Amino acid sequence: MSNRSPAARALPEQASPAERLARLIAANGPVSVAQYMAEANAHYYATRDPFGRGGDFVTAPEISQMFGELVGLWLADLWVRSGRPRDAHYVELGPGRGTLAADALRAMKKAGLAPTVELVETSPVLREAQRARVPQARWHDSLDGLPAEGPLLVVANEFFDALPIRQLVKTEHGWHERMVALIEGRFAPAAGPLLGDSFIPAPLRAAPAGAILEASPASCAIAQELGARIAAQGGAALIVDYGHVRSSVGETLQAVRAHDHADPWDEPGERDLTAHVDFEAFAAAAAQPGVRIHGPAEQGEWLRAMGIDMRAAALARAAPHRAEEIEQARSRLTDPEEMGRLFKVLAMVGSGWPAPAALP
Ligand code: SAH
Repeated sequence: MSNRSPAARALPEQASPAERLARLIAANGPVSVAQYMAEANAHYYATRDPFGRGGDFVTAPEISQMFGELVGLWLADLWVRSGRPRDAHYVELGPGRGTLAADALRAMKKAGLAPTVELVETSPVLREAQRARVPQARWHDSLDGLPAEGPLLVVANEFFDALPIRQLVKTEHGWHERMVALIEGRFAPAAGPLLGDSFIPAPLRAAPAGAILEASPASCAIAQELGARIAAQGGAALIVDYGHVRSSVGETLQAVRAHDHADPWDEPGERDLTAHVDFEAFAAAAAQPGVRIHGPAEQGEWLRAMGIDMRAAALARAAPHRAEEIEQARSRLTDPEEMGRLFKVLAMVGSGWPAPAALP
């Protein structure tokens, strides 16, 4: 069964992430926030299905089928207007339960689009959930194994917020890497090594002591790779996540458990750790010759421009006993006070492809 290396045996896999991180810190000193977040989330997603009422949080595709259907329509519309290339691949990053993929593929099929299905997912528990809804899929641990030919139709909803971030903290001495230490048996953030100012975007260097700056090298690396793939193979990517349009200082790392905020430094691996996506940094990493960036737009605006009001009305006509539930879902997805404003939609489109619907 096992082919673990001696190093892995010294820190057994069955140890909890809290135990592993504590041993690592005792042996080598504090770990980076990125390493803490990576260890915690790998365990979190590998060991549970966190979605829905009995879980920790709810995502847009789990709120209503309308979300996945409109994502599918957006992709199908681009595909039709680009001349219906035959060898297209639907690619989803972090597909959760597979609900979005199932809804999007159903909508695409109505437009005559039946792509291969390529899911990038590391969690064995969630792969099983996805298999139940999209049995025809192929699974990948990373982008590396995706088909190298044929346009990619890529979707990522609430994927990038789960990827590890670095935090930098300003003190009166300058900017430091923010680390996670063990203080009296508890994990706690602490200023680490001093960094040169060159790490910090020029407009943010003068922030006051105490300021925190976040960056996600993992997200930027994937943005760059997606951009390169789309430039080479054609296609488009739709990225939906909560985040900000401009890079700025401020801490957004948060933990959620049972639909409530929790302490991110407590029980790593037992709660969902996320951070806002910096769409400015993301777009800069994705931008390259052969790919255009559209947006970000607010999720509410995008869904309205895609016709969510009409879709909700049609669903309610077909199932009058569900009209109230459908209206609640529509408003939860689009209302600026709910998911409509905080969530943003960004697209990358291959340069030979037409302008996408509903995104400037
Ligand atoms: N898109 C889904 C789920 C969002 S939760 C929805 O909207 O409901 C984050 C998803 O990303 C989960 O499926 C999780 O297992 C996956 N994930 C997290 N980190 C990952 C990584 N490094 N590589 C691949 N998948 C990852």
